[in-house]
Amino acid sequence: MKRGLLIVLSGPSGVGKGTVCSVLRRKVPDLVYSVSATTRKPRKGEIDGVNYFFKSREQFQEMIDSDALLEYAEYVGNYYGTPRDFVEKTLESGKDIILEIEVQGALKVKEKFPEGVFIFLMPPSLDELKQRIEGRGTESKDAIDHRMSVAIEEIGLLRHYDYAVTNDDIEAACHRIQCIVVAEHCRRERV
Ligand code: 5GP
Repeated sequence: MKRGLLIVLSGPSGVGKGTVCSVLRRKVPDLVYSVSATTRKPRKGEIDGVNYFFKSREQFQEMIDSDALLEYAEYVGNYYGTPRDFVEKTLESGKDIILEIEVQGALKVKEKFPEGVFIFLMPPSLDELKQRIEGRGTESKDAIDHRMSVAIEEIGLLRHYDYAVTNDDIEAACHRIQCIVVAEHCRRERV
């Protein structure tokens, strides 16, 4: 059985990774989504086990100590991490899996899975990114400023990725990602 593709979709907070993933989920039902664990409090409408596994700091620390996470990162005061077992079982079953994670975590995954497909979702501009974060209305001014300075550092790490996809339009960005996945499968047919 051929292993599935590990696809990492990363990029600054507010760039639209979540929205792109939910559209891809609809368009590509065979693609499996990794649900992360986080110590962040749920936002309105978020469901435990669907959007995230919401954990206390102690529970998250237990996951770190028992090596249950493939990667984890602290981001704007909260921990986020990818449960390892689910990713490994999905890949072994031959299915493709997508991880929607921030940049530090993506670079850690790259060390462990250099054969993965690393996609950086770019905002059309920094102004547009700031407007999108403000538009969510979930963040204080300080948190927005912090997210913006982290975003600028993250864009500086673009060279570590295989692909850059600009999210100027959700449908177009999803189409480009689908094309990348098809191309990567064809590339692996050679071996
Ligand atoms: P938010 O709080 O907006 O849901 O997520 C904040 C950031 O954490 C986003 O950039 C999101 O992609 C990232 N993130 C979500 N899950 C994970 C994870 O499992 N690992 C890492 N490293 N980042 C994650």
